[in-house]
Amino acid sequence: MKELLVATTNLHKFGEIKGILDGIPFELLCLEDVNYNKEIIENGESFEENAVIKAKQVGRDTGYLTVADDSGLVVDALDGKPGVYSARFGGEDNDYTHKMSLILDELKDVEGPKRTARFVCVAVLYSPHTNTCKIVKGVVNGRIATEIRGTNGFGYDPIFIPEGYNRTFGELDPEIKASISHRYKAFSQIKGLLLKGGYVNGNTSSFG
Ligand code: IMP
Repeated sequence: MKELLVATTNLHKFGEIKGILDGIPFELLCLEDVNYNKEIIENGESFEENAVIKAKQVGRDTGYLTVADDSGLVVDALDGKPGVYSARFGGEDNDYTHKMSLILDELKDVEGPKRTARFVCVAVLYSPHTNTCKIVKGVVNGRIATEIRGTNGFGYDPIFIPEGYNRTFGELDPEIKASISHRYKAFSQIKGLLLKGGYVNGNTSSFG
């Protein structure tokens, strides 16, 4: 079976991506599986730029067909923060209770209707054989809760309430997140590209 390298070390993210790509005839590998530990400097100013940087670096270094994503939380009342800085917000080494508390604090005077936010995921499929990228995007709209609620998921999930629900991603069944999330929307498109891109029969050159 052909391999697809998912350029992440976040095992939670990798688990979600594996679930979405389930059924494609590729063996999915993450960076740990191929012992890739070179630093990736994500210094782009957009999710797109960072995802392309990641996918190209890893794909070129390893020779694998590679998919990378860059994702984050965009809060309207904070002018789009934390955005591309979601992982680094409030200090890279600080935990998510701290990061979420900072956001809740910054929003303490912001009323319900103005607490709109979205999770964004940009995924890039890069073929080192043809040096081509396919870029797709997924968004889930919602709002920021007034307190940290639930323990499911990861990152900012316990403060994000997706549109149409009253509970946070931290409280909702992971299967619900898996069927509506930004990552689901982006990686479903990746799945479509992989299935129709000529990869299944090993012809990577038809991609792009
Ligand atoms: P990335 O690994 O560079 O894409 O960083 C994404 C960061 O955005 C994560 O470390 C989280 O802080 C946040 N994030 C992205 N997707 C999610 C999600 O599904 N739930 C919660 N937080 C997320």
